[in-house]
Amino acid sequence: MHELSIAQNIVEILHDQMKIHNLSKIESVGLRVGVLRSVEIESLSFSFNVLTAGSPLEGARLEVEEVPIKGRCMECGQQVTLSNWLDDCPLCGGPRVEIISGKELDIVAIEGE
Ligand SMILES: [Zn+2]
Repeated sequence: MHELSIAQNIVEILHDQMKIHNLSKIESVGLRVGVLRSVEIESLSFSFNVLTAGSPLEGARLEVEEVPIKGRCMECGQQVTLSNWLDDCPLCGGPRVEIISGKELDIVAIEGE
């Protein structure tokens, strides 16, 4: 259940942002989550709702964008999308692909007032 600790992190960041920007409530939060993080989005939303119930963050929506695994093949030099980080290059079959995205866990947008 690492979703709970991720949700806790998000809540802490949002509290800080509310102070910094003088917000009284938050409508929605945009997240980019890399597939390699193995985050269960439903479980993350659930944890977030539980943690924020009764707080000024209650009712904030998590809008999660999943970021696919992308790599650069060290054989053919192409950028490729992988379904698994252990995959070979789908273009040339080269075994060495450097992962360049898919590990994100970023808050990219906060909407509130
Ligand atoms: Zn290749």
